[in-house]
Amino acid sequence: MHTDLIVAVPAWVLLAYLISGVCFILALRGLSNPESSRRGNITGMVGMAIAVITTVVTHAPVETIKTGIDAYNVNIDGRTALEILAAILIGGGIGLVIARKIQMTAMPQLVAAFHSLVGMAAVLVGAAAYLNPEAFGIAVRITPIASPSFVSILPVSRIEMGLGVAIGAITFSGSVIAFLKLNGNMSGKPILLPLRHVLNLGTLVAILGLIAYFVQDQHPLVFFTIVGLSFAIGFLLIIPIGGADMPVVISMLNSYSGWAAAAMGFTLHNTAMIITGALVGSSGAILSYIMCRAMNRSFISVIAGGFGAVASGGEAAAIDRPYKRGSAEDAAFLMAQADQVVIVPGYGMAVAQAQHALREMADLLKAKGVTVKYAIHPVAGRMPGHMNVLLAEANVPYDEVFELDDINSEFAQTDVAYVIGANDVTNPAAKNDKSSPIYGMPVLDVEKARTCLFVKRSMGGVGYAGIDNELFYRDNTMMLLGDAKKMTEEIVKALG
Ligand code: NDP
Repeated sequence: MHTDLIVAVPAWVLLAYLISGVCFILALRGLSNPESSRRGNITGMVGMAIAVITTVVTHAPVETIKTGIDAYNVNIDGRTALEILAAILIGGGIGLVIARKIQMTAMPQLVAAFHSLVGMAAVLVGAAAYLNPEAFGIAVRITPIASPSFVSILPVSRIEMGLGVAIGAITFSGSVIAFLKLNGNMSGKPILLPLRHVLNLGTLVAILGLIAYFVQDQHPLVFFTIVGLSFAIGFLLIIPIGGADMPVVISMLNSYSGWAAAAMGFTLHNTAMIITGALVGSSGAILSYIMCRAMNRSFISVIAGGFGAVASGGEAAAIDRPYKRGSAEDAAFLMAQADQVVIVPGYGMAVAQAQHALREMADLLKAKGVTVKYAIHPVAGRMPGHMNVLLAEANVPYDEVFELDDINSEFAQTDVAYVIGANDVTNPAAKNDKSSPIYGMPVLDVEKARTCLFVKRSMGGVGYAGIDNELFYRDNTMMLLGDAKKMTEEIVKALG
């Protein structure tokens, strides 16, 4: 019987993929700094263009030399090229419309939705490779003497395929749940099933066992059970995560989508996909780790599905406590007298799109000799880097923007903290209330400023974690109730 198979990829294809891989690495390097991020983005686009063009024009994605069996043909003919073009036009068109229409505040759920597509693509590629392995160059036709021939998927490809569809399916169902939570279709609070850890661990062990068994037996029941269980575990892992841990979920699913793509790169013999997938996977994992550290959460607990999460998301306290309310004129007066003002932007700034008005306010204050700084909490807003993006859009100078660790000690020497649409990231419950869903998360010490101004629409509104903020009722706090953009514009007028 004949089972030999040698796979060779043309050198120029490897070189092109290598160049695109280098472009992606340079892109990541560029993206690590706001000033070089535009260049980073462009380098990434160039890398992706090289990868896509190489894949499309490659005469045969793999040159397969088979001995003893008919060589299969994977050439791209006119029809295939047309199909690829149609798919690019449809997908690209939908992407263009969404990118133009999407509100900045809906970015997190959009990112979750896109991750789900990556996951589903990995599952579909895996299923296609499973159903037609010869077309993917991952099978041999075995012809036993005096028996009908059959197609056997290479053992190594079965492992790659099993892992690829499993990670892809987890990414898909996990991202769908993340989308529903972030979009408000599902409660953002943790949903804790009884025995969830036993259930999660059991399902995970079953998936790994089945992938090992798949190497022995390529029966459809084994393959599709792996897919089914993986869809289930993605769902089970994400529903118990909620409240302040959602940022970690987003970056974690980003990481999963990368690993799914890398596994599919092996199935498709596509080096660029392996490199890109591994880069996305590892940078997502690093980001998740950084976010966990920023939130004082255990990485393992979060990926194990909200280990230790508290079911009660915390409730907003009664809102009839006394508080001090001020006007835009009061705020303008206080800030104009100050030596230093620290601006703390949060999700409400993004909702109101107040960043341009904020920049104008800062310019006027600086013209009056006031030192203005911006304090950014790592999970402010609804996606990693949310505030940095908005401030960069308004051309806020980078050297005025500080991270939590670098500015927290300065609040004690600050005259006015201008907290605009931020709530959870300033809530002292994170420091002193063990029952709070955000307990343990480092927060910005805005209460240490001589005066703390909070801009929000009403006393009833709460932040993402759904809890009241005790700072609203303190003596050195003045509440500025109204839309963040309108309030800031009124302050600008009063300063002018
Ligand atoms: P919060 O969600 O805690 O608070 C937002 C505040 O903005 C509320 O007080 C709200 O009050 C106010 N607000 C909303 N709209 C407006 C408006 N138009 N004008 C003025 N105020 C407005 O935001 P933070 O940024 O402080 O915290 C982020 C939270 O989101 C954290 O809990 C974090 O864990 C979570 N999260 C973060 C993600 C990330 O990656 N960064 C991802 C997912 C979740 P009111 O309604 O009264 O106006």
